[in-house]
This record gives sequence, structure tokens and C-alpha cells, in this order.
Amino acid sequence: MTIVLGAIADDFTGATDLANNLVRGGMRCVQVIGVPNTPLDLSNVDAVIVALKSRSCPVEEATADSLAALEWLREQGARQIFFKYCSTFDSTDKGNIGPVADALLDRLGVTQTVMVPAFPINGRTVYQGHLFVGDRLLNDSGMQHHPLTPMTDADLVRVLSRQTSHTVGLASRTTLAKGAEATRQHLDALAAKNVRHVICDTVDDSDLDVLAEATVEMPLVTGGSGLGQALPAQYRKQGWLAEIAEPGRLQPASGSTLVVSGSCSRATLAQVADFLERHPGAGFALDPVALAEGDKQWEQALAFSFERLEKNAPVLIYASADPEKVKAAQAELGVDRAGLLVEEALSQLAVTLVNEGVGRLVVAGGETSGAVVSALGISALRIGEQIDPGVPWTQATLANREAPLSLALKSGNFGSVDFFTRAFEVLA
Ligand code: ADP
Repeated sequence: MTIVLGAIADDFTGATDLANNLVRGGMRCVQVIGVPNTPLDLSNVDAVIVALKSRSCPVEEATADSLAALEWLREQGARQIFFKYCSTFDSTDKGNIGPVADALLDRLGVTQTVMVPAFPINGRTVYQGHLFVGDRLLNDSGMQHHPLTPMTDADLVRVLSRQTSHTVGLASRTTLAKGAEATRQHLDALAAKNVRHVICDTVDDSDLDVLAEATVEMPLVTGGSGLGQALPAQYRKQGWLAEIAEPGRLQPASGSTLVVSGSCSRATLAQVADFLERHPGAGFALDPVALAEGDKQWEQALAFSFERLEKNAPVLIYASADPEKVKAAQAELGVDRAGLLVEEALSQLAVTLVNEGVGRLVVAGGETSGAVVSALGISALRIGEQIDPGVPWTQATLANREAPLSLALKSGNFGSVDFFTRAFEVLA
């Protein structure tokens, strides 16, 4: 069997979120970080997700990176291409969703794609082309204040029309309610009128099923990870995908456990507090101001970790701090320097401790995860079982480690309050 689905994701944690849904749908998934420059063994893999950093970068860079990913995925034989973006349609009038979708369509030589950002179980729905977060319109959901991609308009037909010179249309709930065949006919009728991008309503999971069935033969689909939940069943119906008993099965985990956290999101702060309450004395707090003064605090953190790991005791190294502390550090060091000092310290600790036998690693924070993965020299992750929505265990092969490293990469606001404890319980 060849690769069925090749996905291009505009950020790292979004890629994992999609991969997680595909595994839950029954596909064996590998996530690669950027386009691989060495050959990859993709036997026993049904879907590959290329994680890019193309959400907020200049549009030329986003389209060039996405096209490179497309070429690579086609070389791997992917039958369908999925352009994955955020369920809140994070973009600006310059892009990057419209220009990237246009570039991919042009390269594939096709004239139409669908846009399905919704993820109903996470409260992201679309009705009459308007995106809702819970019961609020997108532009009243908090997303209007996003620092990089403020979303001030909930009408996605209008939003996307500002990002592309091509015609944007709508597949409304009324059409979806008539089923996949009617939806397909509607898409064809729109194509006959040169409608290139079709924003799709999605009120609940049954709409995702209809959309997946209607679009399974489209060379390119685009959307959030919700659509990824519905596609595998259609691939099986087409005979492209076998029934796979345990698509998220990883090799047995080995080695000691470690949690590092550079996330200051509200959910992470509660997870840190919960872990410290359950495991008194298991935490070591890093402070960027102290890190800026030299290696002393980093060395103390390392010594602390060694001592506990030797006794097989749990360890959490964290820079996570409440907003006042973060602001104070940023005022003293600058936002970028404070962040870099923390990312550097946590990733170097992770590298050193993995070399010394840590084999199960939880990382909290999107940027922090990126820094740790890159410091470890990881280029591909096999996706395993879900710990919490959007966060699966993964495994990576490292050059200097015989057994694979088990990794859980948690973006800030994800995960239940006991995540740092439960993650290891889920991992058999
Ligand atoms: P999240 O997923 O919660 O947004 P990230 O890791 O993406 O987490 O981002 C958190 C950022 O904050 C990182 O750049 C990290 O280095 C930085 N940071 C962490 N702790 C502190 C701190 N105590 N003071 C200042 N910056 C910090």
C-alpha cells in the first residue's frame, strides 16, 4: 500500500493535532518536521504530515515551503493532499491560507478545493460561511486580539476573498443536509461557474462525514483537523486503506521519565501546580534572569535531575511562571531574550538527560517543543495513542539511542490538569 494522505500543516502543533485525529480514524501516521532531506522509511505508514512554520511568515516563504512539501509528498505517492490550517482560520488579508491554497491548486493542475476549518467537538463550527467559537462569532471570540493574525471578520467567504483573486463560494448546511451526492453536485455546479474555493458549513460531525465522502476524490482538500477525523472511513470505503487494528501502536517505551515546561499558559500553570502537589520536591524552577547570569542555575537543575533520576523519582524542570513574573523577566531582559534563554536551557537539559537515559519525555509549550525537538535533532515522529484531545504520544529514532525516544509535545492550553502524571500512566 502507498501513502494515502499527504498533509501540509502550517504549524507544528497543528500538524500533531491532525495526525492525532488520523490515527484515531485508523491511519498509521508519521509527522515530519519540514521537508526531509534524507530518505525516510515509510513502509507501514498510511499518512504523512509535513509540519511547516508557514502560518505567519511572509507569503512568498509560505507558498515556496508548501510547494516543496507538496512535491515531496507526491514523490511518496500520496493520493490526496490536505492543506491543514487552524480551526480559527488564522490568517491576514495578505494570506497565508488563500495564496498557499492557490499555489497548491496551480501546481496540482486542478481548479477547485474545499475549505473546512470546523472542529465541532472543540466548539469550532461554521454556519452560512460564518465561523463560530463556541457561541461567539470568530470576531467576538478573543481571536480579534490575536497578536499575529487578528480575526476581525467571521464571514469566511469575505475573509478568503480578500486573500485570493479567484472566486470564493459556499456549500451551506442546507446542501450538506441532502447528503454527499447532492454536495458533490453542488461543488460541480460551482466549479462550472469558476468558483475555486468553497467554504463549507459544518455544524456537527455528521457534516464532516458528508464533506469527507463528497471530497474523497478531490486531489486537494483544505481545513482543520476535524476533517481529518472523517476522511479515514472514506479511504477504507474506497479500498485505499486497510482495517488497521492498532494504528497508534508504538514500540514499547523504555528509559526514565522527565517533564520540561516552558509554557506559561493558564492550563500549563495548573498542570505544574498539580504535579508539584502530587510529587512534593519533584520540581526545579528555572528563572530567565538567573539563567542570564551564567551557567550556575542550569548546572543546579542538571544536578537535581541526575540525583532524582538515579532514584527513579519523577522530575519536572519548569520556567512556567505567572504573568507578573514573566513580565518582570521580560522587562529586564526583553521578550525575545527571556524566551530564548528558557528555550535554550530546557532543550539543552533535555538533550543531556536523554543522552543519560531519559526515554519518556513530556514537553509543555509550542515554541518550547519546537526548540527541544530541534535540539534533539529529530526530523520525524511516529504518532501513537492520544493522551488528551490533540496530544498523542509520539516516538522518534535518535542516532545515539538504540530504542526510540517516547515524546509527548503539549501546546500550552492543551491537556487536563493531571496531564504530567497521567501521560506516563497512558504509556504502557
Ligand atoms: P505556549 O504553548 O504555552 O504558548 P510556548 O513554549 O509556545 O508555550 O511559549 C512560551 C514562551 O515563553 C517560550 O518562548 C518560553 O521560552 C517563554 N518563557 C517561559 N518561561 C518564561 C519566563 N519565566 N519568563 C519569560 N519567558 C518565559
